Amino acid sequence: MKTENSEQLFNRAMEVLVEGCSSASRGPMNYKPFPPYMREGKGARIWDVDGNEFIDWQLSFGCLPMGHSHPKIVEIVQEKVAGGTHFATALEVEVETAELMVNMLPHVDKVRFANTGTEACMTGVRMARGITGKRKVLKFEGHYHGWYDGLLVSTNPQPISTLGHPNDPIRIPDSSGLTPGSLEDTLVCVWNDEVALERMLATHGHEIACLVMEGAMSNMGVIPPKPGYLKRAQELCRAYNVLFYLDETVTGFRVAPGGAAELYDLQPDIVTFGKALGQGFPVAAIAGPDHIMESIEYGKVLHYGSHNAPRLGLYAAKTMLEEMSRDNFAGFHKITAIGEQMTKRLNQVARDTGQNMRVQNVGSMFHPVFTDLDAITGYREFCAAADLAKYADFSQKMRDQGVFFSGNKILHNLSCTEHTQADIDTSIEAAGNALEQMARD
Ligand code: PMP
Repeated sequence: MKTENSEQLFNRAMEVLVEGCSSASRGPMNYKPFPPYMREGKGARIWDVDGNEFIDWQLSFGCLPMGHSHPKIVEIVQEKVAGGTHFATALEVEVETAELMVNMLPHVDKVRFANTGTEACMTGVRMARGITGKRKVLKFEGHYHGWYDGLLVSTNPQPISTLGHPNDPIRIPDSSGLTPGSLEDTLVCVWNDEVALERMLATHGHEIACLVMEGAMSNMGVIPPKPGYLKRAQELCRAYNVLFYLDETVTGFRVAPGGAAELYDLQPDIVTFGKALGQGFPVAAIAGPDHIMESIEYGKVLHYGSHNAPRLGLYAAKTMLEEMSRDNFAGFHKITAIGEQMTKRLNQVARDTGQNMRVQNVGSMFHPVFTDLDAITGYREFCAAADLAKYADFSQKMRDQGVFFSGNKILHNLSCTEHTQADIDTSIEAAGNALEQMARD
């Protein structure tokens, strides 16, 4: 594979950009010795600056349910851009997009737009504190909610010996620069274990404003909740007077039209969206029932932002919601079916080649983990038993064959409406080659 142009760009980039790019996960930490610099994307394909073509299963970490430069998105954005990019005033398309969202989300009365998942989560936590007057937040090991100080605790894989007892996990800051206060105010619990959660809420419920969680773990491979676990978590929150906050930044408008809340029949108090919502543009949202959302009225709980509700992004979001919902939500069914097929066939290839790769999915999100366990049911199993170096090797061997699996070892891969049966077949064949080569290495 030709890589001269990427290498040259990387050398230039290292003079002016930290790590040669704008996020650690895009740089040499995950792509050795330098990342491929992308030039273009269309449908489920991307091309780098050396002209290499890839079938894209990383899909900008979940931001593209309809793939790259979908004709309907290109059309609406081209039509609207000439009328102005941003006004920082109220917009008609903002109302229209919120109406579509509220119609798809029975647990939501009102929406507030932001730009990124991180900002939305930061606001969600502030709302929970403002409403309850309580100061602490309870999150789960291995759940990621963006890079806001208050939630940047215990999100990365760590050696199992450093995690402490599951009844009282050690809180591990994921960045330098966090104040002791953010660590003190963020409690951490093991996920998928209702006894541990009840114990935590019984002890600390009086000081916890909200329990925040992903509906399915998507930042530590893909780990589905145990049957009934999320409903029980919601019930426990109600019992201990703690707001139940579902972070749907990844799962929203992806795992079902109504996200994880629909899939697992939940009525969260606070929900956040991002990623898929903007179909490639930075659009995020905080949402919930009226009695919760009124907390941000007139700056009681402050939520500002010059770029909130970006005009072109909202046209993309509105178009995505309309297109994906057509024919009884056919777009959502399609991406789920592709994710299921990829998962099943990747597992079959692993068995055929005798490799210990296990692929887990929730609808359209899937991720291969190299492990001797039959299934990964939690963060601690992932930390103890996932061979991340093997995933890095596998995903590099896939990219070498023109199949872009996420370079980030712990993030999920995803399907979009534009993946064809031929894309799936080609990707499965590449996986077989990669695994056979790994067996020989
Ligand atoms: N919440 C979850 C569940 C996420 O996966 C992410 C991003 N991976 C975020 C929040 C933060 O979103 P953003 O990167 O848009 O700030």
